[in-house]
Amino acid sequence: MPVLNRAAELHGEVTAWRRHLHSLPEIGFELDRTATFVAERLREFGCDDVVTGIGQSGVVAVIRGSKGDGPAIGLRADMDALPIVETSGVEHSSKVSGTMHACGHDGHTAMLLGAAKHLAETRNFAGSSVLIFQPAEEIGRGANAMIDDGLMHRFGIERVFGMHNMPGLKEGSFAIRPDGIMASSSRFTLIVKGVGGHAARPQSVVDPIVIAAQIIEALQVIVSRNTDPLQAVVVSVTKVSAGTAFNIIPEQVELLGTVRTLDPALVGVTRDRIEHIARSIAEAGGGSIEYDFDAAVPVTLNHAEETVLAADVAADIAGEAGIDRAAEPVMAGEDFSQMLRARPGAFIFIGNGDTAGLHHPAYDFNDAIIPQGMSYWVRLVETALAPRA
Ligand SMILES: [Zn+2]
Ligand SMILES: [Zn+2]
Repeated sequence: MPVLNRAAELHGEVTAWRRHLHSLPEIGFELDRTATFVAERLREFGCDDVVTGIGQSGVVAVIRGSKGDGPAIGLRADMDALPIVETSGVEHSSKVSGTMHACGHDGHTAMLLGAAKHLAETRNFAGSSVLIFQPAEEIGRGANAMIDDGLMHRFGIERVFGMHNMPGLKEGSFAIRPDGIMASSSRFTLIVKGVGGHAARPQSVVDPIVIAAQIIEALQVIVSRNTDPLQAVVVSVTKVSAGTAFNIIPEQVELLGTVRTLDPALVGVTRDRIEHIARSIAEAGGGSIEYDFDAAVPVTLNHAEETVLAADVAADIAGEAGIDRAAEPVMAGEDFSQMLRARPGAFIFIGNGDTAGLHHPAYDFNDAIIPQGMSYWVRLVETALAPRA
């Protein structure tokens, strides 16, 4: 089955919503305008329940099927934008300076709204579809905020599904894999403490800059020497702050960095290795460290059964040639991972075609893929919640 007829009919309307959302991006949990727009549409469609304020600014809608009782499945879209100055030059460019939808969450929200409109009209399933519009994905907090507000229990969600667009993947095709599809994303802070003083009297100070330089170099061996070459781990020091003048050795250096991996077991191992290396080098140089590691976003782990279900539905829409069932994992993080820790489910990529990359100032969501994305959501509900014969 290709794209649903109704999804093709709604293409223009959903595109208009998408461009409206694109022109007025909002960040983090501060999604007043976006969440209001979403809730208004959902009420217009006649959803059975529309609840706002879940996880501060999240919106949840329930649509009950007309084919009898059954379980509830969750479909999740993210709503937040990024602090980037848009350079796409498109007519619907951001009207909010320094803020833009550079990750396509405007498209995710619009496609799920389109699916909601279709599902509320047809209700061709048993049980309930729960549409989840999440805030604050880009800061890795929104999914947990909604879960902490009782998302799964309150709406009886038994399985949960997510979708993200992917530049470089053929327009409207799909890609998925079981197990780790996106990496964990952790951040660390290392404060290297020494003893400051006059730059011309190095013998009387403990120079934290020299110690920090050795630590940055030594951390590179975690990936090259301590990690199985067949495992994927990234350790990056991304910010170095110290000093005030050319003739002063400072008291301390602050290092910020990130760790990414596809194996949950390697998060803790890498965390401890960083600390051990940094502490040993600092102590050898007469200094000390303070270390903080925040394993903010876990690995996005697709569950086996739900991955097959999602891939089969994608094949329904795009044909078997349009679904890569063994996609390459991505080393970026995604906080839908938190929902997959709470319930079984799967996260799928939909091709955005040959566009600028995610988080690039010239990026724009590809409206041509809206019918495929909407059809995926609708068919997923109708397949997962098919009435028992
Ligand atoms: Zn993003
Ligand atoms: Zn994103």
